[in-house]
Amino acid sequence: MKPSTHRPTRAIISLTAIQDNIKQFKAHVGKQTEVWAVVKANAYGHGAISVSQSIDELVAGFCVSNLDEAIELRSHGTVKPILVLSGIVPEDIHIAVNLRLIVTVPSLDWFKLVSQHLKDVDCEHLRFHIKVDSGMGRIGVTTAEEANQIIALADELGADFAGVFTHFATADEVSQDKFIDQKEKFETIVANLIRRPAYVHSSNSAAGIWHKETVQDIERLGDVMYGLNPSGKVLDMPYDITPALELISELTHVKRIAKGDTVGYGAEFVAVQETIIGTVPIGYADGWTRNMTGFYVLVAGKRCPIVGRISMDQITIALDEKLPIGTKVTLIGQDDQETITVDDVAAYRGTINYEVVCLLSDRIKRIYPDGLAEP
Ligand SMILES: *Cc1c(COP(=O)(O)O)cnc(C)c1O
Repeated sequence: MKPSTHRPTRAIISLTAIQDNIKQFKAHVGKQTEVWAVVKANAYGHGAISVSQSIDELVAGFCVSNLDEAIELRSHGTVKPILVLSGIVPEDIHIAVNLRLIVTVPSLDWFKLVSQHLKDVDCEHLRFHIKVDSGMGRIGVTTAEEANQIIALADELGADFAGVFTHFATADEVSQDKFIDQKEKFETIVANLIRRPAYVHSSNSAAGIWHKETVQDIERLGDVMYGLNPSGKVLDMPYDITPALELISELTHVKRIAKGDTVGYGAEFVAVQETIIGTVPIGYADGWTRNMTGFYVLVAGKRCPIVGRISMDQITIALDEKLPIGTKVTLIGQDDQETITVDDVAAYRGTINYEVVCLLSDRIKRIYPDGLAEP
């Protein structure tokens, strides 16, 4: 989908904030580790190309979720290492090798399938990290024995065993039990490998922030880089982060309705008195989900409730006064004394900040006041 550039709805993204968040994180974790930026899912909705280009010099590598995201980065000039975090389709291994990507090996079974698709593949450039499932339960090996069989097969093929990693399920929680259990399982498996690869890593943002003991060769930095707290409002950040994304729009229509008039699908909102209704061009097709009814936006420095159902392309808000068409509406960000954070939106929806920013669809135009426009 092409962004709707002729619509006033925009995500304004501060690349400087993202750069500052990386610098602060680096100061927090120290120099002994490399920071690899996690730019999967269009850089958590912030725009993968603009973000990755603007931070290239600050990070040692990038992590993406799948091959297409890696292809996007490579085709826009990223030459730094790219680790593909999820398992790819075995038949596609030649794509990863040709683009010099680092693939994740989630199991011996998968690696055996890959070994059947290596005709015309230059195995010397088949670089991989083994994923250890220490308790997340999605992908990965669960024993050193399986990991060692993968390494042995790689040696036979002439492939490059470059790393081993795991992922924590509860690094952003108060309770430590599951975290410690995972950490110990991972350490035991790594200790029993036939050799230690160049990169051993386990930290996402939360582990890097609240469990510095997990800082190893790579920090896989996602959420915190975008100025978001991985725990939402549960754990305090040890330093201040700067949210990188604002979401704004404008009033496209303003009217007075009479007592008894209704607004929106289902005629669910019924005016109990004369009311001024403003219409804003954003809806669930933009990722402003239907459960946002009852939440609020900021107009002229004031909170204005979202009334009526959220439509695909529009929402309706109750205004205190009749404001002109084109008046700025803030959905995420600051207006005068009032602020709406991604976490406020997430809390209202009963979800996490990650989901709120990832759901912002391609229809929303991204603007970079301090950098390149998203191509
Ligand atoms: C998404 C992801 C990360 C980044 O997590 P954040 O909480 O955003 O820092 C790190 N590692 C893996 C394996 C991931 O899938």
